[in-house]
Amino acid sequence: MMRALVGMILAAVLQGPVVAQTILPDAVEGAGKEMGSQAGLEAWVEAFRPRALAAGVPAATFDASLRGVEFNPKVVERDRNQNEFSKTIWDYLDTAVSEDRVALGLKAIAKHRALLDRIAAEYGVEAEILAAVWGLESAYGTYRGDLPVLGSLATLAYDGRRAAFFEAELIAALKIIDGGHVQTFTGSWAGASGHTQFMPSSWEAFAVDFDGDGKRNLWGEDPADALASTANYLRHWGWTTGQPWGLEVTLPEGFDYDQTTERVVKPVPDWQAMGIRTAAGADLPDHGPGSILLPGGHRGAAFLIFPNFQVIEKYNTADAYIIGIGHLADRLKGGPPIAATWPRDLRALTLDERKELQDRLGRAGFDPGGVDGRMGPKTIAAVKAFQKARGLIPDGYPSLEILTLLR
Ligand code: CA
Repeated sequence: MMRALVGMILAAVLQGPVVAQTILPDAVEGAGKEMGSQAGLEAWVEAFRPRALAAGVPAATFDASLRGVEFNPKVVERDRNQNEFSKTIWDYLDTAVSEDRVALGLKAIAKHRALLDRIAAEYGVEAEILAAVWGLESAYGTYRGDLPVLGSLATLAYDGRRAAFFEAELIAALKIIDGGHVQTFTGSWAGASGHTQFMPSSWEAFAVDFDGDGKRNLWGEDPADALASTANYLRHWGWTTGQPWGLEVTLPEGFDYDQTTERVVKPVPDWQAMGIRTAAGADLPDHGPGSILLPGGHRGAAFLIFPNFQVIEKYNTADAYIIGIGHLADRLKGGPPIAATWPRDLRALTLDERKELQDRLGRAGFDPGGVDGRMGPKTIAAVKAFQKARGLIPDGYPSLEILTLLR
C-alpha cells in the first residue's frame, strides 16, 4: 500500500530501516546508476513543466515552487539502498512498542482525548488505533521529517527509477501548495509528510478538513486534520469498529503448522476446537473468521488475526509494522505486553542472504515465486515445504539455519 502512505518515517524514528523489503520491493534496481546533479534536476524541471501544467498545476504555482528546487543526493541514496538491512520482528517491536512510546502515547491521548473521541465517533476508528499510527509514523507529531517535500519528490522523479510514481506525487504536492493548504512542507526522504506521514496522493484522496478552517492541513501543530484523515483512510479500507486487529494466542501441543498462514482462514470456533486459546489461557473471543500468524517462527509469539489486520496493511504491508500498530494500540488501551518470548538468538537475514535463500529453494524444487529478497507468502510456503521435506517444524520462518541446510 506504500502507494498511499509510506511508513518510511519509521526508519528515521526507529533508527534504521525496518522491514523495508516489503515496503518498496524494487528498491535496489537503481544501484550503480550514475548520480544526478543540480543542473540535471533543473533541466528535468523544465522538461516536466508542460506535463505538470497539463495535469492542472497553474504556471505561477509551478514556477514559484520548483524554480530553485534543490537536488538532494542523500534522498537518492536512501531510495536505492533501503533494502540492505532488515530487522527481526522482536527488534522492531522493542522500539516500535517501547515503554517510552506507550507512555508518550498515553500522554498524547490524554491531551487530545476530546478530539480523538469526536473522530472515533464520526469515523468509527478507535482513538488508540489512531494514536498508534500517529505514534509510529511521527512519534505523536514530534518527528514529522525535516526534508523539503518538493525537493525530495523532484529529486526522486528526476532520478527516474520510479519516475511515474514520483511525478504523480509531485503533481499532487504542487496542488497542495496551490490550494493554500500549507505554505511549505517537510517530510521523510520519500515525500511522506505530516503527523501520520501521508503521501501527497493520499492527501488528495483521503485528507479531510476536520477543524473546519477550510484547509486540509496535515502539517501544522494541531493534529486534528491529520488524525481525522487517518481515520478516513482506515474507514475507506474497511475498518470494523470494535474488532481487534488480532490477539496473542497459544497453540496446543502437536499443532499442525500448515494452518499457520494468512491463507488459511477459519471461524473462531474452529480454532477454539483445535485447542487454540488466548495468551492468558481463556476461550477465544469470536470476532469473525481469522488466521493464525507466527511472525517469528514456532519459537515466537502466535497471533490470531482478524480482517482489521488487512486494513492496517493498507498503511504498510510489513507484518512487523501491522503488529506494531495493533500491539501499540492494545498497550494504549491498557493491555499487557506480548507474553511469549522470541527466538532472540536468531538474526535477520541480509538482503543477499534472502535472495540466496530463494535461489537455493528454487533450485531444490521449492518454488519461492522469484528471487527478490522479499519474504512473501510464496517464499514462506516454499520454506514450509522444505522444512517438511527435512522433517523440521514447518513454521515457514526464513532463518539462517534454513539457509545453511540449503547450502
Ligand atoms: Ca483544517
